Amino acid sequence: MKKLALHWRILLGMAAGVAFAALLIQFEWGKGFIVDWIKPFGTIFINALKLIAIPLILGSLISGIADLNNITQLSKMGVRTLAIYLATTVIAVSLGLVIVNVIKPGSAVSEETRTQLLASYEKDAGTRITAAEKQKATGPLKPLEDLVPENIIAAASSNGNMLQVIIFALFFGIGLILIPPDKAAPVKGFFNGLNEVVLKMIDLIMLAAPFGVFALLAAIIAEAPGPDLFVALLWYAMSVVLGLALLYCFYIFLVWAFTKKSPAFFLKGIAPAQLLAFSTSSSAATLPVTMERVTEHLGVDDDVASFVLPIGATVNMDGTSLYQAVAAVFIAQTFGMDLSFGTQLGIILTATLASIGSAAVPGAGMVMLVIVLAQAGIPEVGLALIFAIDRPLDMCRTTINVTGDAVVAMIVAKSLGKLGEPKAQDWDDRLEEVI
Ligand code: ASP
Repeated sequence: MKKLALHWRILLGMAAGVAFAALLIQFEWGKGFIVDWIKPFGTIFINALKLIAIPLILGSLISGIADLNNITQLSKMGVRTLAIYLATTVIAVSLGLVIVNVIKPGSAVSEETRTQLLASYEKDAGTRITAAEKQKATGPLKPLEDLVPENIIAAASSNGNMLQVIIFALFFGIGLILIPPDKAAPVKGFFNGLNEVVLKMIDLIMLAAPFGVFALLAAIIAEAPGPDLFVALLWYAMSVVLGLALLYCFYIFLVWAFTKKSPAFFLKGIAPAQLLAFSTSSSAATLPVTMERVTEHLGVDDDVASFVLPIGATVNMDGTSLYQAVAAVFIAQTFGMDLSFGTQLGIILTATLASIGSAAVPGAGMVMLVIVLAQAGIPEVGLALIFAIDRPLDMCRTTINVTGDAVVAMIVAKSLGKLGEPKAQDWDDRLEEVI
């Protein structure tokens, strides 16, 4: 019998996790049981994915750049990648602003709900504000300064420094191109081998994906706040989701317009990465799977994917930037503030920068939202208003973040003549080989 395709197995795992938790929380001991006995398996699954992120970046980026063989190709790819990333982010923020101004979700929140939300989530919001304060206290060029680590071992010791590792890998790869080929060959061989090993490790981890997402979703349901607050914030949530959905349609259009690939082709290729992004709320944890899907199933050349995707996972967050725009204006509306056109233009700039600065981990977009609020003169305590519903929205925006990276990888590959047919071998066949 033919096995179910991977994305169906992951979907089944997710649905089973939701149903299981919905049933168990009916019992008094249910939540505790899920937190103690099910959630840890989700954490193990995410940790396993994060575990290979740094070796993956080193292996794939260094061997990818070395394969390019010349610096002109690299700079061409770099300029196109960054330009498209920036353009899509600005479009995302602008779309968010249009939607939130048309729907006006803030006016649907009653005075009473506002007071209740502010009181319930004041403390949680405070922690995020303190985290953001640290970031705000630094000089304007600090993010640039932080790009270059002073020690690669120290940088590679934390997933939070992914961008620094990328810079090191780029630099190392450029060095490799510039030395005589006979000297470069063994080093290239090593990183090629490392890359292969890491890709095989991803195959192994993905065997556990349906169980991993089961545990993750069960824990999310068990720990979710009661439904009342969801209802109060329904219009706000719907504005974010509508914006993300429109952005998604825009991506599908871009894929079709630039590469002539059908929506079904794109969707089938990227779906497992999207489902993992949704379940983990982390672009960084999803990166290994995004890489695999984009190269093997969407036909992007390895050297393009290994450059575009790690950078995208850390700096290109269109879903996050759209959410930050909607959330900022929503909070202002709830406080009865009327934001001028100039202020909203300012939000385009700050939300773009804030999404670039957001780490690719759960909840990071909310911390950086504090900076958008501060710049626009919106009370930061307003963060408490959107706290209750942030996790499900994080799941949705992370899915879009990952999708955006894949789309840009396809466009850049196409423009460089490096978009081919997907490699014939199916994931399921490869899994069979593994077991
Ligand atoms: N969780 C998002 C990501 O990893 C970032 C965020 O918006 O919080 O892409």
